Order: sequence, then structure tokens, then C-alpha cells
Amino acid sequence: MPQTNTPPQHFSELGLHSCLQESLRALQYETATPIQAGTIPPLLAGQDVIGLAQTGTGKTAAFALPVLAGLDVKLRRPQGLVLCPTRELALQVAEAFRSYGRGMPGLRVVGIFGGADMRQQLKSLREGAHIVVATPGRLLDHIERRSIDLNQITTAVLDEADEMLRMGFIDDVDTILAKTPKTRRVALFSATMPQRIREIASKHLNNPAEISVAATASTNENIEQCYWLAKGASKLEALKRLLAFEDTDGVIVFTRTRESTAAVAEQLRQVGLKAASLNGDMDQKARIRTVNDLKRGGLDILVATDVAARGLDVDRVTHVINYDVPFDEEAYVHRIGRTGRAGRRGKAILFVAPRERRMLRNIERLTRQQIPEIRLPSPLAIDAKRREALADRIKQALAEPTQPELEDVVDQLCIDAQCDYRSVALALASLIHAPDNSSSRGAQHPSRQSVERREEAAETKAKAPNRRERRQALQGKKEGKQPKDLGEARPLKDHPDVPMERFRVAVGRKHGVKAGELVGAIANEAGIEGQFIGTINILEDCSTVDLPEGMPKATLRHLKKTRVKGMNLAMNRVA
Ligand code: AMP
Repeated sequence: MPQTNTPPQHFSELGLHSCLQESLRALQYETATPIQAGTIPPLLAGQDVIGLAQTGTGKTAAFALPVLAGLDVKLRRPQGLVLCPTRELALQVAEAFRSYGRGMPGLRVVGIFGGADMRQQLKSLREGAHIVVATPGRLLDHIERRSIDLNQITTAVLDEADEMLRMGFIDDVDTILAKTPKTRRVALFSATMPQRIREIASKHLNNPAEISVAATASTNENIEQCYWLAKGASKLEALKRLLAFEDTDGVIVFTRTRESTAAVAEQLRQVGLKAASLNGDMDQKARIRTVNDLKRGGLDILVATDVAARGLDVDRVTHVINYDVPFDEEAYVHRIGRTGRAGRRGKAILFVAPRERRMLRNIERLTRQQIPEIRLPSPLAIDAKRREALADRIKQALAEPTQPELEDVVDQLCIDAQCDYRSVALALASLIHAPDNSSSRGAQHPSRQSVERREEAAETKAKAPNRRERRQALQGKKEGKQPKDLGEARPLKDHPDVPMERFRVAVGRKHGVKAGELVGAIANEAGIEGQFIGTINILEDCSTVDLPEGMPKATLRHLKKTRVKGMNLAMNRVA
């Protein structure tokens, strides 16, 4: 199959009607994408087309523009038919037709899909539609009721044909195509070309032009891909850490089941993130509302199943996180196509359990590229990032004009509190930085809060403890000096109420270790979630860590050999 490597082309060179070019200008489309440059000319010439391309490559305009170009608006009968695997995609495609055809007065585009009011659809069809965008099942209902007339169809489009195959609709597609006039042209778009799609193509398409925009590797080079080998920390912890560390705008997290979309979204909401689930249990209205919320910024994270997020087109999605590996490699290609849209950059992160490595290899084979492994950002790195963000906010505020009436407030404060401006500045910075008061998303992250509190507490003590204090700390005794002086972390508000036991590790202050590094190493290596890591005492030449009672022997053996600051932790229970 030929690859399109043509230089960017202007729409004016593709022979499109001036009113369509006008709409494209209004949408700020400057040049045609490769799939558009490859498919628009043959479709305009009336030829059948196979476009091997995923969403995000501009394939909607690739078929919508030629369909609109050949339309007779005066004839109020369906002339363009587009079949889509899901109602979300059908809605988006219908919307795209409307915006490309805004210069065509009287143009009527109707969406026909399950889960929507049948009476309304019947009414719209009766009133006359030029373009019908449909899911196969509901369209067949209409065909059986004879409420739709396909005799004037001049172009039939199969959008995401491989998805329709995966979702079991391909026989319906076959039936529907057979009911369209033989004279129509067919445009078949698919991210992949399984055998059954080839069969449909050879049965219904006539000498098609084949245009391939190679899968992710070259189409979406603006999507950075990587994977995390899911061991050492729970996937939930990993997700929270990545969300805390990455510069995200909109995020889609893919899980396998409807239940897990709800559970993961709930966990993210509990830590103050604006997350919601998107799954097939929700009715159509709720799904549309949720997607619109993501578009407008009322939501930042959608936790979705493959089917619910199919075809989703939200420009602000910067990250796709594959929390569960997809059922197959094609689904991966579809999933990551939710980001890097409209020429923006995107990032796709895949969680792969060690036993799922084969799927990773299959994905690499399909996308013809190697996906690099990443390590989770350490709590320390997340913390540093958060402080950086705080500094940026303050710098930004410094660049803005100040409110003169506040000058008196600050001056008076210094007098009343008998302090200098630096102390006021520090107090203000702490206020913004404090998890409860911060409006910044990252600031509300619990694992960061926990680490911060530990760090903060561990850093407050300056003096090295004497021998007696050290012994007491090792034994967890409370008498004598206050724990604070020994560098003991304050109890954590969100610490689960589980019995803990104390362990000694062989790195201490003199090795330069920080509480956050111990939390990171233990969370990563033992898979113990941050919230289950209790009090940490950083002592001069060793430290203690409180962990849930009953640690498996194998985990303890592993932690003995875990290295921090270039040394084995040599972790032991404190007798
Ligand atoms: P699609 O692959 O059709 O879902 O399109 C992906 C995104 O790219 C949509 O947001 C389109 O509006 C946008 N798009 C399509 N074609 C172009 C183009 N030629 N120039 C700029 N953006 C485009």
C-alpha cells in the first residue's frame, strides 16, 4: 500500500468548492493533512477509497469535504451516509459535517444512533436529511421500518471499520452497504486492515485508491509514548504520582471494565482531582454532558472504557494513560489517538504488568516503533516540581500590578506581628503551598502531602540525637525527648488505622538520606502504598520506618537489598 509522504498541500490545490474553503479558513485549517491530501482528490473524482488512518489524523474532513462537495442541497433526500461504531463518534462526525458545511444554506445533517429518541429521528428523517451519520444497528431499524430512503445515496463512508468489526457490527455494515445503490462511491476508513475488512472492501468497493497514513509511528509523531512496568507500586499510586508530576491539561485514563472506571474516578476525586467516569452504563445524555465537561474544563480527567471513549475528540487532552492494557493492539492505537489532536503534542503512558509484556511487544510491532520504559517520578521529584510551580505562580504575581490597598495591610502586619517582610512572604507562601488551601491541582495530592509532612517533620530537627534518644527512637519509646527532636514525622491525617511495626534501615542523616527517598524506595520496591508508610525517623547513622505489621518474608528480603544513597537498606525489624 502506498504511503503518503507528500508535502503539506493547501486546500485550494485540492479542487474544493470555495464555500468549503471558506469554512476551512474559519476553522483555521491551513493545509490538508496527509490523509486529506491523499483521499480528497480520488473521492472528488468519484473513485472508491480505502484510507488506512486512525482518528486524530483529520480523516473526518477527508471524507466529509468530498461528500459535501458533491451534494445537491435542493434534493432533500439522504445523499451521504456515514457509518460509525459508536454514538459518540456519530455525534462528532455529524457536528464536523455541520461546521464544514456552514456555508451551504439549508444543509441538513441527521444523526441516527441507539440510545436516542426514535421519534425525534423519524421526524428529522421525514423533514429531509442530506447527510445521515449512523451507527449500524439503529440504521438497520430504520431500514426495516422503511423510514429511511437510501436510493439517492451517492457516497457511503465506513468510519473506523475495524472498530465496527471488533464490536460485532460488520455483518450489519455488509447488509447496509448491499442496500445502497451500486453507483455510489465508498470510502472505507480503518486504523488497521484485518482480513474481514479486506473481504468487505473487495465485496463492496470498486478498484479503490488505497491511501495509508502509517499507524501511530508516523501519523502521530506528536504523541510521545512510553510504558511503566507495573510492579513495586500499585497502579493507583502510580497513576496519582504521574498525574501529580506530568504537565497535564485534559487526561483520559483507560481501564478495562465499567466498574473500574467508577472506582478509579472515585479514588481520584477523593484526592481533589476533577475526575469522572465514562462508561456504557451511563445514558446518552450523561455521556455527552461528561465529555462537554471535559471540553470546557469542568473536568480534567475522564476514566473510560474503550467503547465509551471511542472517537472522542477533545483538543485539550494532553495525556492518555492506559491504566489497564488494552484487549488488543488495535485498541491501543485507538486509545492513544485521543491525544495529540489538531496538531498538538500528546503523551501516552501504558501500564504493563510483567505478565503482560507480550501485549507490549504486539503493540510495538503494530506501531512499528519501540516504546521506551519510564520510571515513576519519585515523591521527591514531585515535591520539587510542586515547589517550582509555587515559585512560578509567585513570579507571575510579581509581574502583575499590586493592589495599593494591600500595602497598608502588609505594613500593619509587620508591625502587629513584629516581623519583617521576609517572614510575611514565607507565611504567605506556606498558605498557598498548604494542601488544604491550595487551588492547584497538584497541591491536593495526598501522597505528596504525606511526603511533604514527613519531609517537613524530618527536616525540622537540626541536632543529632544522643545515644539514649537514638535507642528510644529505635524502640519506638515515647518518653524522654519529644519525637520532633528526633526527626519523627507527625502522625498523618490520612494514615490508615492499621497496626504498625518498626523497622530499622541502614541509611541515616550522615548518608544524606531524606524521608521522601525512603518513602519512594519502599513504595516502589515493596509495592506498599504511600499512605501505609508510617512514621520515619532519620537518625545520624540509620533510620527507622513504621510499616504495616506482617510484612511477607520475601518483601523484607527484597527491601534488605534495596539501595538508597548507594547503600543497601539492610532493613530489619526492631526487636
Ligand atoms: P479527525 O482525525 O477527523 O478526528 O480530526 C482530528 C482533529 O484535527 C479535529 O479536531 C479536526 O478539527 C482537526 N483537523 C482536521 N483536519 C485539519 C487540518 N487540515 N488542519 C488543522 N486541523 C485539522
